[in-house]
Amino acid sequence: MPGTLFIVAAPSGAGKSSLVNALLEREPGIVLSISHTTRPPRPNDKDGVHYHFVKRAEFELLVTQDAFLEHAEVFGNLYGTSRATVAERFAAGNDVLLEIDWQGAQQVRAKLPCVSIFILPPSREELLRRLRSRGSDSEAVIARRTAEARAEMVHCREFDYIIVNDDFATALGELQAIVTAQRLRCHNQLARHEAQIADLLKPD
Ligand code: 5GP
Repeated sequence: MPGTLFIVAAPSGAGKSSLVNALLEREPGIVLSISHTTRPPRPNDKDGVHYHFVKRAEFELLVTQDAFLEHAEVFGNLYGTSRATVAERFAAGNDVLLEIDWQGAQQVRAKLPCVSIFILPPSREELLRRLRSRGSDSEAVIARRTAEARAEMVHCREFDYIIVNDDFATALGELQAIVTAQRLRCHNQLARHEAQIADLLKPD
C-alpha cells in the first residue's frame, strides 16, 4: 500500500521546522524527504541530514535528467525534491512529508494525490517579533523577510488545511490530527486491514 504524501509549507517565522520535527518524533511511519539545494550550508546545517547541498551545475543536470518531482527557485537559491528519495521512502512503507514552498506544492498537487498543510503565524505583530528574534538583523533585512513571508502566505488558500501556530502544543496536536485522520480514510484502512476485513465479511 503506498503511503500518503504530506506537504507542509509556511513563511519563515511560522514555526514550521519545529512543528515538523516534533511531529516526526511523535508519529512513527512518517519520514521527511531531504531536498537538494544550491543554498550554501548555514553553520548548523549537515549535508545529507538537512539538505543535499549541491552546486548549481549539478542541480541543473539533475533537472535535465528529470530527477525532481518538483523544483523551484526560492529567494535566489534552487530547491528540489528528488523522485528517487520519495520513492525509496514509500517503498519502505512510510508516509512521506515534504517541507517545500508554495511553488513546489503547486507542482506536486498537479502530479500526485497529496495532503497539503499551510502553517500561519497568529498575527502580523507576532510574525514580526519572531523574525526579529532570529538575530541582530538590520531593519532592511527584517523588511525583506516580512515581504517574503507575505509572498508565501498569499498562497495559503491553495492548501487543504491551515494551522495557526499561536500555541505550539495546540498546533502540534492539530498537525497530528491531520495525519491521523488521513490514515483513517476508508481507502487507507481498507488496505491496512485487508485480511481482517475480508475475514469479518466472510459468510459463516
Ligand atoms: P531554507 O533555505 O531556509 O531551509 O528554506 C527556504 C525555503 O525553501 C522554505 O520555504 C522551504 O520550505 C523551501 N524549500 C526547502 N526545500 C524545498 C524543496 O525541495 N522544494 C521547494 N519547492 N521548496 C523547498
